[in-house]
Amino acid sequence: MSDDPVLSKIQEAVGRMRDPETGRPLSKTGQVGEIQYDASANSVKCTIKLSTHSSPVRDEYSESVAEVIRSTVPELARVEMKVDTLDRPPATIGQVGITVKSVIAVGSGKGGVGKSTLAASIALTLEKAGATVGLMDADVYGPSIPHLLGLSGRPEIQNGKIVPIYAGRMPVMSMGFLIEKDQAVIWRGPMLHGAINQFLRDTYWGQLDYLIIDMPPGTGDIALTLSQMLPLSGAVVVCTPQEVALLDAVKAIAMFRKTEIPILGMVENMSGFVCPDCGKQYDIFGRGGARDKAEELKVPFLGEVPLNISLRQKSDQGSLAAALEEPICHDAMQRIVRSLVRELARKAAMAPMSAPLPILT
Ligand code: ADP
Repeated sequence: MSDDPVLSKIQEAVGRMRDPETGRPLSKTGQVGEIQYDASANSVKCTIKLSTHSSPVRDEYSESVAEVIRSTVPELARVEMKVDTLDRPPATIGQVGITVKSVIAVGSGKGGVGKSTLAASIALTLEKAGATVGLMDADVYGPSIPHLLGLSGRPEIQNGKIVPIYAGRMPVMSMGFLIEKDQAVIWRGPMLHGAINQFLRDTYWGQLDYLIIDMPPGTGDIALTLSQMLPLSGAVVVCTPQEVALLDAVKAIAMFRKTEIPILGMVENMSGFVCPDCGKQYDIFGRGGARDKAEELKVPFLGEVPLNISLRQKSDQGSLAAALEEPICHDAMQRIVRSLVRELARKAAMAPMSAPLPILT
């Protein structure tokens, strides 16, 4: 701590703030960088370090540190923040020995609500923010992730491990790469368990901040299988706003709760339609149903994605990433991903010791 009482007050206040990834105080994890206090200019320059896992909330977190500094020393004229990247590799977790910080399952009560679209959009948005992300398509009954991302090819085997197919820098694994396009696969329980196990254990995923898993709709068996293989950070449940769809979402939430997978939140998809010609909004399936249901079930509401033609057209053409560049999807996904990372941060702050730390050698 500094001899200067103002500077030491600032150092203490910043050091008490919780790291969004681990939930530990920044002072305990070596994430407080240099803090300069210039008494004559009445200004502070503060550097903190955040891991790439926190990159989606980097700006808002940096602003909250600035806010803490301002409230600690209200007479300051200027606070300048700098965020450096902290290199903190993930630990190897679970029976399957995968090297990842957060594993997030994206589920829904039934098909056709945009679960795969949302899973892939969450993965792409996290990656764009600067995190390292893998995407696993566990929707073995209808693997649509390769199509949404315009990916094809057959994964190779190298040194006994499956080399995934890459969407840019992002490793993707899907049953869709292993079966012919129009082929139907009949899964028996043990085969399903084996396939999921192999996707997790035998794929060369590398070191990940996030692994996003697109779950099959409805059924609980894959959720159960997954929860036995690795600790899941939690599940995101996608639904559409109309009452019948919400009933299925409620079942999906009950299913995750039964398998002790925490619910990170609900997303409302196809929420309202803004006519591209007249700009008027039509709530085709209604709007706000998922927000109300989330409140009723006491789960976080992460955000909503409007129905839009471009998203449907571009994903059909295999360029979901291009649809996410457009303001309507971009803004919606930013809100959802930030809420999701905030929710992970809130959970980590509640139980900081449960966040796995890498073993230092
Ligand atoms: P699920 O995984 O729940 O079965 P998909 O993600 O495969 O659903 O989406 C089903 C269809 O709905 C796809 O054609 C997809 O492009 C389309 N879709 C999803 N979300 C939206 C949206 N917000 N606006 C328009 N079309 C959408």
